[in-house]
Amino acid sequence: MKKPLIGITSGVQPPDAAGVSYERYYASSAYVSSIERADGVPLVLPVSAANDIVKAHANIIDGLLLSGGVDVNPLVFGEEPQQKLREVCDARDWYELALIKEVMQQDKPVFGICRGIQVLNVACGGTLWQDIYTIRPEILKHRQESGARHGSHTIRVQSGTLMEKLFSDKTLVNSFHHQACNAIAPGFAATAWTADGIVEAIERQGAALTFGVQWHPEHMAASTQKMLELFVALVDAAKKRMEQSK
Ligand code: MN
Repeated sequence: MKKPLIGITSGVQPPDAAGVSYERYYASSAYVSSIERADGVPLVLPVSAANDIVKAHANIIDGLLLSGGVDVNPLVFGEEPQQKLREVCDARDWYELALIKEVMQQDKPVFGICRGIQVLNVACGGTLWQDIYTIRPEILKHRQESGARHGSHTIRVQSGTLMEKLFSDKTLVNSFHHQACNAIAPGFAATAWTADGIVEAIERQGAALTFGVQWHPEHMAASTQKMLELFVALVDAAKKRMEQSK
C-alpha cells in the first residue's frame, strides 16, 4: 500500500533574522523524522498567499501536521493585541487558516502541535490566551529551560479520548509555550490539562481525526514510543482516508 503523504506547515524566518538577509521558510527536522518513523511520507509545505495553491496543497496531501512557531495574531480571533504578545506572522496565519478549512472540508486528518493546536482551535472558532502568565499568578512554568527531549510538567487526560488511549495521568511532557487555548472551538473538547488548568490537548468529535497537543512530541518521539504513537495516529487516519477514497 502507498504510504500517505503528510503535509507539514513551515515557519517564516524574516529577512535579517539569524544573520540572513533574505526570507526563508523552515521546519524542524524532528517533524520530518517523526512522520517517517510513523510510516508516512513527510512533505514540508511553503506558506502561500494564493487560494489556488492552498487548494492544491490540500488536494495532494493525505493528512496535515501543523507545526509549532510564532504567536497567532489575536486580531484573527477578534481581540486586540495585549502587552505580552510576541512575534506574529500574518502570512503564515492566513495560509494555515485557509489550509485547515480546505483539509477539513476534504475530511482529511489534522494534527496540530504547539502553535498548531492553537491555530487549529482558532480556525474552528475558538480563542487563545495571548499570554498565560497574565491569567493567574499560580500558572506553572510552561517554557522549560531543559532540552526538548526532556519532559518538564505532567498532564492529566480525559477518559474515553485519544489522549487517554495513548497516555495515562501524570505523563510527563515538554513545554515551550506562553499562549494556550482559551475558548475551545465548537465541535472540539479539551482532553488533557496541566495541574494549573491550562489546556494541553483538544480533539474534534465525530469526524475525521482532528486533534492537537500543546507540547512538542516530535522531540520525544525518537526515545519515547507513546509520543511516536501520536504521529502513528495521524498516519493511520490518513491511510484510512486513502482507502475510503479509492
Ligand atoms: Mn505546557
